[in-house]
Amino acid sequence: NQFEGYQLSKEIIGALTILGYKEPTKIQAEVIPVALQRRDIVGKSQTGSGKTAAFAIPLCEEAVWEENTPTALVLEPTRELTVQTKQEIFHIGRKKRLKVPDVFGGFPIDKQIQTLKQKSHIVVGTPGRVMDHIRRGTLQLGNIKSVVIDEADLMLDMGFAEEVGQILEKIKTNPRIMLFSATIGEEIEHMIERYLKEPVVVEI
Ligand code: AMP
Repeated sequence: NQFEGYQLSKEIIGALTILGYKEPTKIQAEVIPVALQRRDIVGKSQTGSGKTAAFAIPLCEEAVWEENTPTALVLEPTRELTVQTKQEIFHIGRKKRLKVPDVFGGFPIDKQIQTLKQKSHIVVGTPGRVMDHIRRGTLQLGNIKSVVIDEADLMLDMGFAEEVGQILEKIKTNPRIMLFSATIGEEIEHMIERYLKEPVVVEI
């Protein structure tokens, strides 16, 4: 398995083998080593490139089972992408038994609150509902070390620019940020300038 070249733990390599991932895709080869150095990243790439695993592998590698409150937050523009991404992270993290709750609108908040009260490692959600949980105090941010802004261009199309900014302002732990987008327009450029620290830019 060619992923062994990245000094990943045997749990992650084992999970990738079960998934049938034998060699990194182009974006994974670019993103994984940089992400493992905890650098901020701007990834310009489409879906279908293996982008999800490119950020999920480092997040799962860094996750520590003993932590009780989330260490990573992944923002997605839609409920569908939230569920897909949660599944991918769950499969990659399964041998570490990582907890990956998802939160999105249009779904009873009480169940999500119950889930968030339990141990969790990587939370995946849409910005509106994530912000809702932050306001209610049901999503703890005090231990967040990484934030992923996935599909940033779609995020803005969906009208989530303000919420994304609010969420980033609420996180006081100076997290590493990875932003992915198929296109990088002016508004995303501003977001990068404002919130990311000397990001490595990866274009696929
Ligand atoms: P994504 O671009 O993240 O939506 O991924 C596209 C598809 O590629 C998904 O079905 C993944 O399961 C699959 N995939 C991601 N990485 C690999 C890999 N290294 N080898 C084979 N398939 C992969």
